[in-house]
Amino acid sequence: MTGEGDCIFCNIAAGSMPCFKFYEDDQAIGFMDIFPAADGHALLISRSHWTDVFAIDDESVRGVASAVRRAAVAVHQVLSPDGLNIVQANGEAAGQTVFHYHVHLLPRTTGEKLRMHGKERGDDARLRELAAAYARVLNDAE
Ligand code: 5GP
Ligand code: ZN
Repeated sequence: MTGEGDCIFCNIAAGSMPCFKFYEDDQAIGFMDIFPAADGHALLISRSHWTDVFAIDDESVRGVASAVRRAAVAVHQVLSPDGLNIVQANGEAAGQTVFHYHVHLLPRTTGEKLRMHGKERGDDARLRELAAAYARVLNDAE
């Protein structure tokens, strides 16, 4: 359960790797996906290192789920997407590429195919802008 030096998300959680963060509490951290599959694509990760849903404990999974619900409201308010998928992958066959428990918030546009992974790095200015907008809504809700 302890952090792992070569885990990207542990490094983000520790602050040793930058991210466009919009949320944090004792259990969860929220930041923008750097390769967005859609505009506004966000991630909520557990603060502690757990590989996947099979490893994570109840307290941590509850903490992430609660943050996901609040972040979903923020995405809804900021972008008003046609829909919002909440996706969590376990294992390579399921599309998991970072082996630290996390949940994707994927804003959807009617008719567009669901993709979990983007092809290009997001635009820094846009990621910063969205992270700030999500953070404002989350802070106002507290
Ligand atoms: P998975 O494929 O494991 O469900 O999701 C991992 C996600 O993490 C991918 O959507 C990928 O774009 C994102 N990702 C990978 N490396 C980084 C990074 O260094 N920073 C951020 N913000 N996202 C990352
Ligand atoms: Zn980790």
